[in-house]
Amino acid sequence: MDNSTNEKVRCLIIGSGPAGYTAAIYASRANLNPVLYEGIQPGGQLTTTTEVENFPGYPNGITGPELMEDLKKQAVRFGADIRMGIATASDLSSAPYKITIDGEKVIESEAVIISTGATAKYLGIPDEQKYAGMGVSACATCDGFFYRKKIVAVVGGGDTACEEAIYLSGLAKQVYLIVRKPYLRASKVMQERVFNTPNIIVLFEHNTIGLFGESGVEGAHLIKKMGQPDEEKVDIAIDGFFLAIGHKPNSDIFKEWLETDEIGYIKTIPGTPRTTVPGVFAAGDVADPIYRQAITAAGSGCKAAIEAERYLSEIGK
Ligand code: NDP
Repeated sequence: MDNSTNEKVRCLIIGSGPAGYTAAIYASRANLNPVLYEGIQPGGQLTTTTEVENFPGYPNGITGPELMEDLKKQAVRFGADIRMGIATASDLSSAPYKITIDGEKVIESEAVIISTGATAKYLGIPDEQKYAGMGVSACATCDGFFYRKKIVAVVGGGDTACEEAIYLSGLAKQVYLIVRKPYLRASKVMQERVFNTPNIIVLFEHNTIGLFGESGVEGAHLIKKMGQPDEEKVDIAIDGFFLAIGHKPNSDIFKEWLETDEIGYIKTIPGTPRTTVPGVFAAGDVADPIYRQAITAAGSGCKAAIEAERYLSEIGK
């Protein structure tokens, strides 16, 4: 690639969730002239949820898309250059770092803020899409409140599934935990909590094959002991269906250069958004296997922009 045609910027932000937009607000107010590429899903995961009631500052709640639009407007107001485009490759071997956009254009940047988020895993059954926003959710903390005194199901057998089931058990009348194996993968303490919660019913060795309902989820079609001689069809009546089968951090294009954990979350120096590469910062869900909230992502985006500002002034760029 002919380097002379590369566009050169001071601060490149990749991703447009709460972390990316907050980084853009802070970076533009610090005169870093940030360029932000929105990625595959402009606005990030929150654009797939309905009402957001736990983002401070919105006493009456706000829809996910509106919140993201507001964050974007706030970044634009201070001069952030927000563009459509997907980062498809990276070269973080030396500064200025090179990020390829849409497989063709290369941006060279002194500081890079990676805020590419994580993607919740889905089972892959067509009904998940059919009922998206109508009873299917991948975030109990975001959407659980809408199922007060109702019946919900959580799919998965790991710590996230147990945590979500316990959280939902405090709101819903009844929670089914649908586990494909005859045991839970979650830590012992989480398992005990689940077993000791009277309104959680664990359905071991059940697989979900479909959902049903007129204008929203009214139930799920399950198969007990799938593929075994005593396989059995089971239908359960539910109002909400929560996926908790893991998340995939969107870090693939950076893995060659940055340390990640075994799932792919970018490792940062504890308490900071700094990665092992100076001038490259990771903010939001791509570096957060634990909290994964809009507000924590926004906070880490703020930290990343402050770090970028300090880094650029230290290297005199
Ligand atoms: P995990 O990968 O640990 O668990 C995923 C669960 O989903 C497993 O039970 C798995 O089943 C099940 N699953 C995966 N695919 C399917 C499918 N297609 N159909 C049905 N079930 C499926 O993910 P988590 O998000 O639970 O946890 C990720 C990491 O974060 C873990 O290390 C966990 O310990 C940690 N964590 C810690 C918390 C805490 O300490 N408070 C809270 C949340 C997460 P199977 O077992 O059969 O593979």
